[in-house]
Amino acid sequence: MADKKIILTGDRPTGRLHIGHYVGSLRRRVELQNSGKFDEIYIMIADAQALTDNADNPEKVRQNIIEVALDYLSAGLDPAKSHLFIQSQVSELTELTFFYNNLVTVQRLQRNPTVKAEIQMRGFNDDESADNKAGIPVGFFCYPISQAADITAFKATVVPVGEDQLPMIEQTREIVRKFNSTYAPVLVEPTALLPEDAASLRLPGTDGRAKMSKSLGNCIYLSDDSETVREKIRGMYTDPGHLQVSDPGKVEGNPVFTYLDAFCKPGHFDRFGDCFVGKKVSFEFHSLDEVKAQYRAGGLGDVMVKNFLYAVLEDTLAPIRERRHRFEQDIPYVYEVLRQGTLAAREVAARTLAEVKAAMKINYFDPGVLDALIAQQSDKYR
Ligand code: ATP
Ligand code: MG
Repeated sequence: MADKKIILTGDRPTGRLHIGHYVGSLRRRVELQNSGKFDEIYIMIADAQALTDNADNPEKVRQNIIEVALDYLSAGLDPAKSHLFIQSQVSELTELTFFYNNLVTVQRLQRNPTVKAEIQMRGFNDDESADNKAGIPVGFFCYPISQAADITAFKATVVPVGEDQLPMIEQTREIVRKFNSTYAPVLVEPTALLPEDAASLRLPGTDGRAKMSKSLGNCIYLSDDSETVREKIRGMYTDPGHLQVSDPGKVEGNPVFTYLDAFCKPGHFDRFGDCFVGKKVSFEFHSLDEVKAQYRAGGLGDVMVKNFLYAVLEDTLAPIRERRHRFEQDIPYVYEVLRQGTLAAREVAARTLAEVKAAMKINYFDPGVLDALIAQQSDKYR
């Protein structure tokens, strides 16, 4: 049992998934799923976590559950190999969270850099805020603990995530160690699996800001149609110093090149070489390094590079989009996948919860335990 290889990961249903999610986690999940090297895979739509900062907007969360599920299926997650489930419908996770709360201090939570940044981004610390949004919702503040519950409920060994999730995995590992040393060795310490290339660790936005994020409106969505992708790429931030085609250009901090780093494959130079054939100048490139070298030297225009990026991105996005259209026509199937996945997840989480409660000595009515308790307490008063 202890050597089983188990994956748990997921996304908040606060919007459709974008190419940042794809390179940061989704693409890897599909590869791991198809590698056949894992015994169990659980992919969670984290609606309860989404509600920690969207308590007043349950309809948004409800609507996006199906959007995320459609994105999952179209990206290649296969219900025959991975259990796709809805977090709030596995109430064991809430119970685990409640018990783990005792193992974490407020001070420790306050040190979490990702939560700190998110609190700032959401304005929870702004005193002047006129509405009743000022202040940090307790549930939001504690979401790293609930994430530990999600991961440990399935005894996950591997959690494929983007860089921003590292503090959550570290917090989970601490809870596991604390639990196991205080009670009994029930829980398993997970490891984070980050993308291998720097570009995918944190994909920047189309506006050049550090992170592509739903809340910043700088995303290319997996479900965007081809024309929208073209328009978004056309409007992308590049090197503001690259005014004339002949000017030397910067590759660092230029999201067009970061996206190419994340998506470009060797075969693309043969297949999409005509993007670099122009009326006045033409180039023949065989690698991304050659494209970058020419851009740095000057003479290679943004339009050509963007046309190439469009072709490269479409090579990944078009098949995903096509599969999505098919799943969109069969919504009952999508809900059935979630229902079945949730049933499977509940069974496993219930088993872990039972072990946790036994370790914590709060399993009074378990078979055998009750008899022993009765005997012990009767003896005491005899
Ligand atoms: P929200 O604004 O609601 O927090 P989000 O865009 O940050 O949404 P999450 O659901 O919090 O998305 O994150 C899901 C997964 O995608 C996590 O593993 C996260 O690390 C990864 N991820 C999100 N944005 C990016 C990005 N720009 N680059 C790489 N990975 C990302
Ligand atoms: Mg996030």
